[in-house]
Amino acid sequence: MLKLKPNCECCDRDLPPDSAEARICSFECTFCATCAAEKLSGICPNCSGELVRRPIRPASKLARFPAATERHVQPAGCAPHAQEGA
Ligand SMILES: [Zn+2]
Ligand SMILES: [Zn+2]
Repeated sequence: MLKLKPNCECCDRDLPPDSAEARICSFECTFCATCAAEKLSGICPNCSGELVRRPIRPASKLARFPAATERHVQPAGCAPHAQEGA
């Protein structure tokens, strides 16, 4: 079952289970749409995999299959690609 992480790993923004702004890779690394597009160019910084829109879990299923609550943040891992001398 897909793990619905509660926040963006880059900017720690909340990404509730019904958020259309969540992006996820095949390993369930989770980012907001802004970070995925602007900082990561659609590529997961942890595994180099594709970031796609996370499907929304219907509210009727959340009671039985709740979202994860443990937050993961790795701001250093998702900085824009370092520019030499910048
Ligand atoms: Zn973010
Ligand atoms: Zn990943």
